[in-house]
Amino acid sequence: MAKVFVVVEHRQGLIRDATFELVSLARELQSASGLEPTAVVIGHGVRGFAGTLSKYLPRTFAVENEALADFRYETYAAVLKDILERETPLVTLCPQSAFGMELFPRLSVESQRPCATDCIKVEMDGAGLSVVRSIYNGKILSRSTFAPSGGYLVTVRSGSYAPATEAGSAGAVEEFPCPPFKTPFRTEFLGYREAAAGAVDISQSPFLVSIGRGIKDVENIPKAQELADRLGAVLSCSRPVVDKKWLGKERQVGTSGRTVKPKVYLALGISGAFQHLAGIKGSGVFIAVNRDAKAPIFRAADYGVVEDMFKIIDALKEQSGS
Ligand SMILES: Cc1cc2nc3c(=O)[nH]c(=O)nc-3n(C[C@H](O)[C@H](O)[C@H](O)COP(=O)(O)OP(=O)(O)OC[C@H]3O[C@@H](n4cnc5c(N)ncnc54)[C@H](O)[C@@H]3O)c2cc1C
Repeated sequence: MAKVFVVVEHRQGLIRDATFELVSLARELQSASGLEPTAVVIGHGVRGFAGTLSKYLPRTFAVENEALADFRYETYAAVLKDILERETPLVTLCPQSAFGMELFPRLSVESQRPCATDCIKVEMDGAGLSVVRSIYNGKILSRSTFAPSGGYLVTVRSGSYAPATEAGSAGAVEEFPCPPFKTPFRTEFLGYREAAAGAVDISQSPFLVSIGRGIKDVENIPKAQELADRLGAVLSCSRPVVDKKWLGKERQVGTSGRTVKPKVYLALGISGAFQHLAGIKGSGVFIAVNRDAKAPIFRAADYGVVEDMFKIIDALKEQSGS
């Protein structure tokens, strides 16, 4: 039976969320095309991760070795090349992250398998394996079909698939031997350095006023900022507001932005795409304002107001004592 492998990304003792999104994709490929899904966990001290993955997929390979403690493309690519040669999966998936971006193109060269990067959709049909990518700054979606090959490598953009939930049954975990490495290595792992915190850390705010594309124009941003200031809240936003460079990336909520857990989340002019909602799971009171009564955000909100957001901004400013 043809197989689909998910390369598990982990860092500093945690499995990265993007891995669980790939589990969803692997399950989709299983139901649509019968591919048998397997997780591949590489590292040192990763047997616990393998146990976690076994709750999601029927099979997990664990490759355990001291030399794999920190990510180095030379060792990880050697392990994966060995697994691909022995197991011949048809599709191998990895997150489009710093990890995946370094690993998969190199693995493609070394394993002689074609690779498509930064995909937002992966599908199999009679014509073979095809991928959808967002190009020209998100203005166009392009679909490409791989030329026939014995195996394909694909990196997937974070947020493209909803994270999977546990399967409810325990899958098998198999230890896979670690191949010998070519030494000396050409790269050296120096350590982790946390990104410098920006002026605003929306993940720490107990009250967020969040704006979406409904804000319409950069000229309206000060209105929302003033409301946030008066309410003692921090201003955050959906991705289109960042894409237009109306607010900085550090204010973006969602799968490709920050995950937040405020006590109050007030969403103004945001439609409620899953990539946005995934970033506010675990928030306290969630209030949505949208002029479209059918906006999906109302299915997730605790309170919904069907109204023009600017009327609500004015009314709240008035209430807060202008
Ligand atoms: C890989 C990937 C990752 C992504 N990551 C993120 C992410 O991290 N965060 C994120 O937010 N998105 C993310 N997105 C984008 C996401 O899919 C949505 O496109 C985005 O969340 C939509 O933003 P929005 O709700 O502001 O805009 P829209 O979907 O355009 O919605 C605007 C809403 O405003 C309402 N509106 C308009 N005018 C008014 C008004 N005057 N008063 C009241 N309501 C009004 C409309 O009815 C509409 O519902 C990602 C997408 C991809 C493919």
